[in-house]
Amino acid sequence: MAAILGGGLGGLSTAYYLLRTNVAKSNNLKLFLLEATNCCGGWIKSIKTKDYIFEQGPRTIRPKGITGVNTLNMIEDLGLSEHVAPITAEHPAAKNRMIYVNQNLYHLPSSFKGIFQKNLPFSKPLVYALFYDISQPHKPLQDDSIYNFAERRFGKEIADYAIAPMICGICAGDAKEISVKFLMKTLFEWEQTHGGVVKGMMKSMFSPKSGDDIEFSNLAKRAQEEKWNVYTIKGGLETFPATLHDHLKQNNVDINLNTKIKELQFVDHNTVLLKNCSNELFTASHVYSTIPSHALAKLVEKQHPELAQELCDIPFVTVGIVNLYFSTDTPLVSPAFGFLVPPIENSPILGVVFDSFCIPDQKGTVLTVMLGGKWFKEKFGEDVTEQKLYDVAIHEIGTILNITQKPTVHHVNILPKCIPQYVIGHYERVEKIRDYIHNNNLPMSLVGSSYDGVGINDVIYSAKKQVEEDCT
Ligand SMILES: Cc1cc2nc3c(=O)[nH]c(=O)nc-3n(C[C@H](O)[C@H](O)[C@H](O)COP(=O)(O)OP(=O)(O)OC[C@H]3O[C@@H](n4cnc5c(N)ncnc54)[C@H](O)[C@@H]3O)c2cc1C
Repeated sequence: MAAILGGGLGGLSTAYYLLRTNVAKSNNLKLFLLEATNCCGGWIKSIKTKDYIFEQGPRTIRPKGITGVNTLNMIEDLGLSEHVAPITAEHPAAKNRMIYVNQNLYHLPSSFKGIFQKNLPFSKPLVYALFYDISQPHKPLQDDSIYNFAERRFGKEIADYAIAPMICGICAGDAKEISVKFLMKTLFEWEQTHGGVVKGMMKSMFSPKSGDDIEFSNLAKRAQEEKWNVYTIKGGLETFPATLHDHLKQNNVDINLNTKIKELQFVDHNTVLLKNCSNELFTASHVYSTIPSHALAKLVEKQHPELAQELCDIPFVTVGIVNLYFSTDTPLVSPAFGFLVPPIENSPILGVVFDSFCIPDQKGTVLTVMLGGKWFKEKFGEDVTEQKLYDVAIHEIGTILNITQKPTVHHVNILPKCIPQYVIGHYERVEKIRDYIHNNNLPMSLVGSSYDGVGINDVIYSAKKQVEEDCT
């Protein structure tokens, strides 16, 4: 019996890969999944009406790289290919991504040609950043913040106007705290090994390529041929975990909703007891924990306080989401993905997504304002109301986008501790956590966004890798 703790995408994917391994190896491992709430999907939540879709968590998935191909392979296997709504490289939502600086919206360059042109707010064409890198001295380091790294190699403007807002967009975090290895591991390794990014890039061109191979499903091939930038799922992203859930049920995975686990008791190297809030006990030979690290910490702290402390030391941020629907005949914004606000602007909002251009089947104008993140408490205090977040969002879109009319419908959600922050030292901490589990023979594996990547692709891929590792 293997228990899967948590029914977010991490838990659902773990069960999916365990099932595949069962089939491939003719195993008969019984699987049960324990989810605290009344539905699976975790942060993925869509509100769908005939006029609009409000995504309250994630909305787009990237098709590129091994992790992107892996997700597309899973989507095809689940029979969801026809539901995929791609945004190709030529689509305005792919080409037009903006930042808000000094009370102006500026387009970020989206083509190779663009990096040779001067684009405000940058004072020089972006290609100059490469010359800057060549002229900078080498600084030996184990880890660094992504902001420091970008400033050191490419200059302050790139750090402030490209990297810092990108980190806000990906993890609602502060680039001055996030590890360079989160997004620029290879560039950092080039700097450390070869003395600079450009030097490393040149050397790497002549080295043999290594890495995982992956098979391409027809859908993944299509994404490559049609040059998808990102994609979403028609009817809302929630269709994805809902389909996975149905697939698992059809394959006899025992899915227990409304089952919040409050304690794990490790009995021996292949017995673990999971106690729920009504003190019922579930027994498993192995547990795949896919719940956030801070939640797992509480479950193990009685038996393993040292492990609990390390898990607690992974920080999380809270994000406010304000979805707005304007029933208009002409769009209130120009075609674009939306804009991000660099932290240097000291704004209460992180950015705005123009959903009516990214998500299909929307009538009128649909926008999502993201607020807070790393600065949530600083900007809004401890007891912020949904009304306050709504007022801030309306004020900001009035100022920045000149939208004065009231939305026809709105929805506000505060997502507490929703995104883990891979701060400096994160990867070493995760290694220490896994070493502890291994050295103490605990029958537990860790999956989910707390450890090996915060995006949907990362979570699914880490489930696949973990299952492969455990089943060989
Ligand atoms: C606002 C926002 C926007 C995002 N945008 C994007 C995007 O556009 N693209 C992208 O790729 N990624 C995005 N992400 C990231 C993506 O949503 C996550 O990578 C993914 O949903 C994480 O899945 P998970 O299973 O690891 O965790 P979760 O979704 O947190 O699932 C964990 C599950 O465990 C359950 N649980 C917790 N404690 C217990 C317990 N004690 N007992 C039983 N069950 C428990 C929870 O109820 C939950 O269902 C975004 C995230 C947020 C918050």
